[in-house]
Amino acid sequence: MNSFQDSLQSLSTGSPPNEEQITALLSANAEQMPALLSAADKARRRGVGDAVHLRAIIEFSNYCRKNCLYCGLRRDNRSLTRYRLTEQQILDAAGEAAALGFRTVVLQSGEDLYYTPTVIARIIERVKNKYDLAVTLSLGEHSRQTYKTWREAGADRYLIKQETADEQLFKRLKPDTSLSRRVQCLCWLGELGYQTGSGNMVGLPGQSLHTLARDILLMRKLDVDMAGIGPFLPHPATPLKNAAPGNLELTLKTLAITRLYLPQTHLPATTALCTLAKDGRRLALSGGANVIMPNLTPPAVRDKYLIYPQKADIGEKPARALADITALLADLGRPLAGDRGHAVKNKPMAYPELA
Ligand code: SAM
Ligand code: SF4
Repeated sequence: MNSFQDSLQSLSTGSPPNEEQITALLSANAEQMPALLSAADKARRRGVGDAVHLRAIIEFSNYCRKNCLYCGLRRDNRSLTRYRLTEQQILDAAGEAAALGFRTVVLQSGEDLYYTPTVIARIIERVKNKYDLAVTLSLGEHSRQTYKTWREAGADRYLIKQETADEQLFKRLKPDTSLSRRVQCLCWLGELGYQTGSGNMVGLPGQSLHTLARDILLMRKLDVDMAGIGPFLPHPATPLKNAAPGNLELTLKTLAITRLYLPQTHLPATTALCTLAKDGRRLALSGGANVIMPNLTPPAVRDKYLIYPQKADIGEKPARALADITALLADLGRPLAGDRGHAVKNKPMAYPELA
Protein backbone atom coordinates (compact mmCIF):
# COMPACT_ATOMS: atom_id res chain seq x y z
CA MET A 1 0.00 0.00 0.00
CA ASN A 2 1.31 3.45 -0.91
CA SER A 3 1.33 6.11 1.76
CA PHE A 4 0.53 9.74 1.00
CA GLN A 5 4.14 10.75 1.67
CA ASP A 6 5.63 7.99 -0.52
CA SER A 7 3.28 8.91 -3.34
CA LEU A 8 4.13 12.59 -3.17
CA GLN A 9 7.82 11.71 -3.02
CA SER A 10 7.55 9.42 -6.06
CA LEU A 11 6.55 12.42 -8.20
CA SER A 12 10.13 13.61 -8.15
CA THR A 13 11.29 10.40 -9.86
CA GLY A 14 9.16 11.19 -12.91
CA SER A 15 7.94 7.58 -12.99
CA PRO A 16 4.43 7.13 -14.39
CA PRO A 17 1.69 7.14 -11.76
CA ASN A 18 -0.45 4.16 -10.87
CA GLU A 19 -3.92 3.85 -9.39
CA GLU A 20 -2.64 3.07 -5.88
CA GLN A 21 -0.41 6.14 -5.77
CA ILE A 22 -3.18 8.44 -6.92
CA THR A 23 -5.63 6.90 -4.47
CA ALA A 24 -3.12 7.51 -1.66
CA LEU A 25 -2.88 11.17 -2.69
CA LEU A 26 -6.67 11.45 -2.89
CA SER A 27 -6.80 10.13 0.68
CA ALA A 28 -4.78 13.11 1.98
CA ASN A 29 -6.09 14.23 5.37
CA ALA A 30 -6.51 17.84 6.53
CA GLU A 31 -2.89 17.98 7.72
CA GLN A 32 -1.57 16.65 4.42
CA MET A 33 -3.72 18.88 2.19
CA PRO A 34 -1.41 21.95 2.35
CA ALA A 35 1.55 19.89 1.10
CA LEU A 36 -0.53 18.52 -1.77
CA LEU A 37 -1.89 21.92 -2.79
CA SER A 38 1.53 23.52 -2.57
CA ALA A 39 3.06 20.77 -4.73
CA ALA A 40 0.29 21.35 -7.28
CA ASP A 41 0.90 25.10 -7.20
CA LYS A 42 4.61 24.55 -7.90
CA ALA A 43 3.78 22.09 -10.68
CA ARG A 44 1.41 24.65 -12.18
CA ARG A 45 4.08 27.35 -12.14
CA ARG A 46 6.62 25.07 -13.72
CA GLY A 47 4.25 23.48 -16.22
CA VAL A 48 2.16 26.41 -17.47
CA GLY A 49 3.58 29.48 -15.71
CA ASP A 50 1.81 32.12 -13.65
CA ALA A 51 -0.45 33.60 -16.34
CA VAL A 52 -4.18 32.94 -16.07
CA HIS A 53 -6.15 32.43 -19.28
CA LEU A 54 -9.69 33.68 -19.77
CA ARG A 55 -12.24 31.90 -21.96
CA ALA A 56 -15.63 33.52 -22.55
CA ILE A 57 -18.39 30.93 -22.52
CA ILE A 58 -21.53 31.41 -24.63
CA GLU A 59 -24.28 28.90 -23.86
CA PHE A 60 -26.33 29.21 -27.03
CA SER A 61 -28.97 26.48 -26.64
CA ASN A 62 -30.35 24.46 -23.74
CA TYR A 63 -32.14 21.90 -25.93
CA CYS A 64 -30.66 18.42 -25.62
CA ARG A 65 -31.38 15.07 -27.23
CA LYS A 66 -29.66 13.21 -24.39
CA ASN A 67 -30.96 12.22 -20.98
CA CYS A 68 -27.92 12.26 -18.68
CA LEU A 69 -29.19 11.50 -15.18
CA TYR A 70 -27.29 14.36 -13.53
CA CYS A 71 -28.02 17.25 -15.90
CA GLY A 72 -30.80 19.83 -15.73
CA LEU A 73 -30.82 20.12 -19.54
CA ARG A 74 -31.73 16.42 -20.00
CA ARG A 75 -34.52 15.87 -22.54
CA ASP A 76 -36.99 14.57 -19.94
CA ASN A 77 -36.81 17.74 -17.86
CA ARG A 78 -40.12 19.26 -18.88
CA SER A 79 -39.94 22.00 -16.24
CA LEU A 80 -37.15 23.81 -18.09
CA THR A 81 -38.02 26.64 -20.49
CA ARG A 82 -35.93 25.95 -23.57
CA TYR A 83 -34.18 28.60 -25.66
CA ARG A 84 -32.02 28.88 -28.73
CA LEU A 85 -29.90 31.89 -29.67
CA THR A 86 -29.97 33.03 -33.29
CA GLU A 87 -26.76 33.14 -35.31
CA GLN A 88 -26.75 36.90 -34.92
CA GLN A 89 -27.17 36.68 -31.14
CA ILE A 90 -24.24 34.24 -30.95
CA LEU A 91 -22.14 36.55 -33.10
CA ASP A 92 -23.09 39.55 -30.95
CA ALA A 93 -22.08 37.69 -27.77
CA ALA A 94 -18.74 36.78 -29.40
CA GLY A 95 -18.35 40.45 -30.37
CA GLU A 96 -18.93 41.49 -26.76
CA ALA A 97 -16.27 38.99 -25.65
CA ALA A 98 -13.80 40.35 -28.21
CA ALA A 99 -14.54 43.94 -27.17
CA LEU A 100 -13.85 43.05 -23.55
CA GLY A 101 -10.45 41.65 -24.55
CA PHE A 102 -11.14 37.91 -24.51
CA ARG A 103 -9.03 35.85 -26.92
CA THR A 104 -11.17 32.69 -26.81
CA VAL A 105 -14.89 32.01 -26.98
CA VAL A 106 -16.33 28.68 -25.92
CA LEU A 107 -19.57 27.87 -27.76
CA GLN A 108 -21.48 25.40 -25.60
CA SER A 109 -24.93 23.81 -25.80
CA GLY A 110 -26.94 20.68 -25.20
CA GLU A 111 -26.84 18.24 -28.09
CA ASP A 112 -29.22 20.23 -30.26
CA LEU A 113 -29.56 19.06 -33.86
CA TYR A 114 -31.59 22.15 -34.76
CA TYR A 115 -28.21 23.70 -35.59
CA THR A 116 -27.01 21.56 -38.48
CA PRO A 117 -23.27 20.94 -38.96
CA THR A 118 -23.36 23.50 -41.78
CA VAL A 119 -24.97 26.15 -39.59
CA ILE A 120 -22.42 25.61 -36.82
CA ALA A 121 -19.62 25.74 -39.42
CA ARG A 122 -20.99 29.06 -40.68
CA ILE A 123 -21.11 30.46 -37.13
CA ILE A 124 -17.49 29.40 -36.55
CA GLU A 125 -16.41 31.02 -39.85
CA ARG A 126 -18.26 34.25 -39.06
CA VAL A 127 -16.76 34.47 -35.57
CA LYS A 128 -13.27 33.76 -36.92
CA ASN A 129 -13.60 36.20 -39.83
CA LYS A 130 -14.97 39.02 -37.76
CA TYR A 131 -12.98 38.72 -34.54
CA ASP A 132 -9.49 37.70 -33.53
CA LEU A 133 -10.73 34.86 -31.35
CA ALA A 134 -9.86 31.21 -30.82
CA VAL A 135 -13.03 29.12 -30.96
CA THR A 136 -13.63 26.25 -28.57
CA LEU A 137 -16.67 24.05 -29.14
CA SER A 138 -18.48 22.07 -26.45
CA LEU A 139 -21.40 20.52 -28.31
CA GLY A 140 -21.26 16.89 -27.22
CA GLU A 141 -21.01 13.74 -29.31
CA HIS A 142 -21.09 13.93 -33.10
CA SER A 143 -19.68 12.01 -36.08
CA ARG A 144 -16.06 12.27 -37.14
CA GLN A 145 -17.24 13.94 -40.34
CA THR A 146 -19.08 16.63 -38.38
CA TYR A 147 -16.03 17.32 -36.21
CA LYS A 148 -13.98 17.52 -39.43
CA THR A 149 -16.40 20.05 -40.95
CA TRP A 150 -16.13 22.26 -37.87
CA ARG A 151 -12.36 21.94 -37.72
CA GLU A 152 -12.14 22.97 -41.38
CA ALA A 153 -14.39 25.92 -40.60
CA GLY A 154 -11.75 27.09 -38.13
CA ALA A 155 -12.63 25.62 -34.71
CA ASP A 156 -9.50 25.40 -32.58
CA ARG A 157 -10.51 23.35 -29.55
CA TYR A 158 -13.20 20.98 -28.34
CA LEU A 159 -14.36 20.17 -24.82
CA ILE A 160 -16.06 16.86 -24.20
CA LYS A 161 -15.65 15.56 -20.70
CA GLN A 162 -15.25 11.86 -20.06
CA GLU A 163 -17.33 12.55 -16.89
CA THR A 164 -16.23 9.26 -15.28
CA ALA A 165 -13.73 6.59 -16.33
CA ASP A 166 -15.89 3.86 -14.78
CA GLU A 167 -17.64 2.20 -17.72
CA GLN A 168 -20.59 0.89 -15.73
CA LEU A 169 -21.15 4.12 -13.84
CA PHE A 170 -20.90 6.02 -17.12
CA LYS A 171 -23.58 3.80 -18.72
CA ARG A 172 -25.86 4.27 -15.72
CA LEU A 173 -25.50 8.07 -15.78
CA LYS A 174 -25.44 8.56 -19.55
CA PRO A 175 -27.83 5.89 -20.84
CA ASP A 176 -27.79 7.19 -24.45
CA THR A 177 -24.09 6.54 -24.96
CA SER A 178 -21.00 4.75 -23.64
CA LEU A 179 -17.58 5.62 -22.27
CA SER A 180 -15.91 4.06 -25.31
CA ARG A 181 -17.95 6.25 -27.65
CA ARG A 182 -17.02 9.36 -25.63
CA VAL A 183 -13.34 8.38 -25.70
CA GLN A 184 -13.64 7.69 -29.44
CA CYS A 185 -14.87 11.27 -29.89
CA LEU A 186 -11.85 12.59 -27.97
CA CYS A 187 -9.51 10.51 -30.14
CA TRP A 188 -11.12 11.73 -33.40
CA LEU A 189 -10.87 15.31 -32.22
CA GLY A 190 -7.16 14.87 -31.44
CA GLU A 191 -6.55 13.27 -34.85
CA LEU A 192 -8.31 16.18 -36.55
CA GLY A 193 -5.93 18.65 -34.92
CA TYR A 194 -8.20 20.10 -32.25
CA GLN A 195 -6.80 20.92 -28.85
CA THR A 196 -8.91 18.58 -26.75
CA GLY A 197 -10.48 19.02 -23.35
CA SER A 198 -11.85 16.33 -21.09
CA GLY A 199 -12.73 16.37 -17.41
CA ASN A 200 -14.84 14.71 -14.77
CA MET A 201 -17.31 15.29 -11.99
CA VAL A 202 -16.25 14.65 -8.42
CA GLY A 203 -18.77 13.08 -6.06
CA LEU A 204 -21.00 11.29 -8.55
CA PRO A 205 -23.13 8.76 -6.71
CA GLY A 206 -21.40 5.37 -6.98
CA GLN A 207 -17.94 6.85 -7.53
CA SER A 208 -14.96 5.80 -5.37
CA LEU A 209 -11.44 7.17 -4.91
CA HIS A 210 -10.31 4.42 -7.28
CA THR A 211 -12.74 5.73 -9.92
CA LEU A 212 -11.26 9.22 -9.51
CA ALA A 213 -7.74 7.79 -9.81
CA ARG A 214 -8.77 6.08 -13.05
CA ASP A 215 -10.25 9.40 -14.27
CA ILE A 216 -6.83 11.04 -13.85
CA LEU A 217 -5.05 8.13 -15.52
CA LEU A 218 -7.44 8.28 -18.47
CA MET A 219 -6.94 12.03 -18.93
CA ARG A 220 -3.20 11.45 -18.84
CA LYS A 221 -3.42 8.60 -21.33
CA LEU A 222 -5.49 10.78 -23.68
CA ASP A 223 -2.92 13.55 -23.18
CA VAL A 224 -5.67 16.15 -23.05
CA ASP A 225 -4.87 19.84 -23.46
CA MET A 226 -7.53 20.87 -20.97
CA ALA A 227 -9.38 19.18 -18.11
CA GLY A 228 -12.42 20.56 -16.32
CA ILE A 229 -12.62 19.16 -12.79
CA GLY A 230 -15.77 20.12 -10.92
CA PRO A 231 -18.05 18.78 -8.22
CA PHE A 232 -21.28 17.00 -9.09
CA LEU A 233 -24.18 19.20 -7.97
CA PRO A 234 -27.65 17.60 -7.75
CA HIS A 235 -30.44 19.19 -9.77
CA PRO A 236 -33.96 18.92 -8.30
CA ALA A 237 -35.57 18.03 -11.65
CA THR A 238 -33.31 15.03 -12.32
CA PRO A 239 -33.28 11.41 -11.10
CA LEU A 240 -30.22 12.31 -8.95
CA LYS A 241 -32.08 15.03 -7.04
CA ASN A 242 -31.58 13.30 -3.67
CA ALA A 243 -27.87 12.53 -4.14
CA ALA A 244 -25.29 14.37 -2.04
CA PRO A 245 -23.25 17.09 -3.76
CA GLY A 246 -19.56 16.58 -4.44
CA ASN A 247 -17.22 17.49 -1.62
CA LEU A 248 -15.07 20.64 -1.80
CA GLU A 249 -11.87 19.11 -0.39
CA LEU A 250 -12.07 16.05 -2.63
CA THR A 251 -12.64 18.26 -5.67
CA LEU A 252 -9.58 20.36 -4.75
CA LYS A 253 -7.51 17.22 -4.23
CA THR A 254 -8.58 15.82 -7.61
CA LEU A 255 -7.69 19.11 -9.29
CA ALA A 256 -4.31 19.27 -7.52
CA ILE A 257 -3.38 15.69 -8.40
CA THR A 258 -4.48 16.21 -12.00
CA ARG A 259 -2.06 19.15 -12.11
CA LEU A 260 0.74 16.97 -10.69
CA TYR A 261 0.29 14.31 -13.35
CA LEU A 262 -0.73 16.55 -16.27
CA PRO A 263 1.61 19.50 -15.65
CA GLN A 264 1.07 21.28 -18.95
CA THR A 265 -2.66 20.86 -19.25
CA HIS A 266 -4.98 23.85 -18.91
CA LEU A 267 -7.10 23.42 -15.78
CA PRO A 268 -10.00 25.82 -15.20
CA ALA A 269 -11.38 26.97 -11.88
CA THR A 270 -14.76 25.51 -12.81
CA THR A 271 -18.09 27.28 -12.30
CA ALA A 272 -19.33 24.19 -10.44
CA LEU A 273 -16.51 24.60 -7.92
CA CYS A 274 -17.32 28.32 -7.56
CA THR A 275 -20.96 27.35 -7.01
CA LEU A 276 -20.00 24.93 -4.24
CA ALA A 277 -17.69 27.39 -2.47
CA LYS A 278 -17.72 31.20 -2.51
CA ASP A 279 -13.92 31.33 -2.65
CA GLY A 280 -13.74 28.41 -5.12
CA ARG A 281 -11.92 30.45 -7.75
CA ARG A 282 -9.16 31.50 -5.36
CA LEU A 283 -8.84 27.98 -3.95
CA ALA A 284 -8.61 26.43 -7.42
CA LEU A 285 -6.08 28.98 -8.71
CA SER A 286 -3.95 28.34 -5.62
CA GLY A 287 -4.06 24.57 -6.08
CA GLY A 288 -3.24 23.95 -9.73
CA ALA A 289 -5.75 25.85 -11.90
CA ASN A 290 -4.72 28.39 -14.57
CA VAL A 291 -7.94 29.16 -16.49
CA ILE A 292 -11.15 31.07 -15.73
CA MET A 293 -14.25 30.86 -17.91
CA PRO A 294 -16.52 33.90 -17.40
CA ASN A 295 -20.06 33.68 -18.74
CA LEU A 296 -20.93 35.82 -21.80
CA THR A 297 -24.33 34.22 -22.43
CA PRO A 298 -26.93 36.99 -22.91
CA PRO A 299 -28.54 37.77 -19.51
CA ALA A 300 -32.08 37.22 -20.89
CA VAL A 301 -31.51 33.45 -21.23
CA ARG A 302 -28.66 32.75 -18.85
CA ASP A 303 -30.81 31.49 -15.99
CA LYS A 304 -32.26 28.86 -18.34
CA TYR A 305 -28.92 27.11 -18.87
CA LEU A 306 -29.40 25.52 -15.51
CA ILE A 307 -27.35 22.32 -15.52
CA TYR A 308 -27.40 22.46 -11.71
CA PRO A 309 -29.06 24.89 -9.27
CA GLN A 310 -27.64 28.20 -8.02
CA LYS A 311 -25.05 28.26 -10.83
CA ALA A 312 -22.50 30.82 -9.65
CA ASP A 313 -22.36 32.88 -12.85
CA ILE A 314 -26.11 33.38 -13.43
CA GLY A 315 -26.24 37.03 -12.38
CA GLU A 316 -22.62 37.88 -13.19
CA LYS A 317 -22.12 40.87 -15.50
CA PRO A 318 -19.08 40.39 -17.79
CA ALA A 319 -17.43 43.74 -17.00
CA ARG A 320 -17.99 43.24 -13.27
CA ALA A 321 -16.70 39.66 -13.49
CA LEU A 322 -13.55 40.92 -15.20
CA ALA A 323 -13.02 43.54 -12.49
CA ASP A 324 -13.38 40.84 -9.79
CA ILE A 325 -10.96 38.57 -11.65
CA THR A 326 -8.43 41.38 -12.07
CA ALA A 327 -8.60 42.13 -8.33
CA LEU A 328 -8.24 38.45 -7.41
CA LEU A 329 -5.27 37.94 -9.73
CA ALA A 330 -3.57 41.07 -8.37
CA ASP A 331 -4.02 39.67 -4.89
CA LEU A 332 -2.60 36.30 -5.93
CA GLY A 333 0.28 37.94 -7.82
CA ARG A 334 -0.78 36.26 -11.07
CA PRO A 335 -0.88 38.09 -14.43
CA LEU A 336 -3.62 37.78 -17.02
CA ALA A 337 -2.41 35.97 -20.13
CA GLY A 338 -2.21 38.16 -23.22
CA ASP A 339 -2.07 35.36 -25.82
CA ARG A 340 -4.72 32.93 -27.03
CA GLY A 341 -3.55 30.33 -24.58
CA HIS A 342 -3.06 27.22 -26.68
CA ALA A 343 -1.60 24.41 -24.61
CA VAL A 344 2.11 23.78 -25.16
CA LYS A 345 3.50 20.39 -24.36
CA ASN A 346 7.23 20.28 -24.67
CA LYS A 347 8.61 20.22 -21.17
CA PRO A 348 9.92 17.30 -19.11
CA MET A 349 7.38 15.74 -16.75
CA ALA A 350 9.53 15.27 -13.62
CA TYR A 351 9.45 17.66 -10.67
CA PRO A 352 12.69 17.30 -8.74
CA GLU A 353 11.98 20.32 -6.56
CA LEU A 354 8.74 18.88 -5.21
CA ALA A 355 10.27 16.13 -3.11
N1 SAM B 1 -23.82 18.71 -23.93
C1 SAM B 1 -22.40 18.82 -23.90
C2 SAM B 1 -21.77 17.68 -23.14
O1 SAM B 1 -22.47 17.00 -22.39
O2 SAM B 1 -20.57 17.48 -23.33
C3 SAM B 1 -21.93 20.14 -23.30
C4 SAM B 1 -22.81 20.78 -22.28
S1 SAM B 1 -22.86 19.95 -20.72
C5 SAM B 1 -24.10 20.86 -19.87
C6 SAM B 1 -21.35 20.53 -19.97
C7 SAM B 1 -20.93 19.84 -18.71
O3 SAM B 1 -21.86 20.10 -17.66
C8 SAM B 1 -20.87 18.33 -18.72
O4 SAM B 1 -19.68 17.88 -19.29
C9 SAM B 1 -21.00 17.96 -17.24
O5 SAM B 1 -19.74 17.63 -16.67
C10 SAM B 1 -21.51 19.26 -16.60
N2 SAM B 1 -22.69 18.99 -15.77
C11 SAM B 1 -23.91 18.64 -16.16
N3 SAM B 1 -24.71 18.44 -15.10
C12 SAM B 1 -23.97 18.67 -13.99
C13 SAM B 1 -24.23 18.60 -12.58
N4 SAM B 1 -25.42 18.25 -12.12
N5 SAM B 1 -23.23 18.89 -11.73
C14 SAM B 1 -22.02 19.27 -12.22
N6 SAM B 1 -21.71 19.34 -13.53
C15 SAM B 1 -22.69 19.04 -14.41
FE1 SF4 C 1 -27.24 17.02 -22.66
FE2 SF4 C 1 -24.68 17.54 -22.06
FE3 SF4 C 1 -26.63 17.76 -20.21
FE4 SF4 C 1 -25.98 15.34 -21.07
S1 SF4 C 1 -24.62 16.79 -19.95
S2 SF4 C 1 -28.06 16.11 -20.82
S3 SF4 C 1 -25.46 15.75 -23.21
S4 SF4 C 1 -26.38 18.98 -22.02
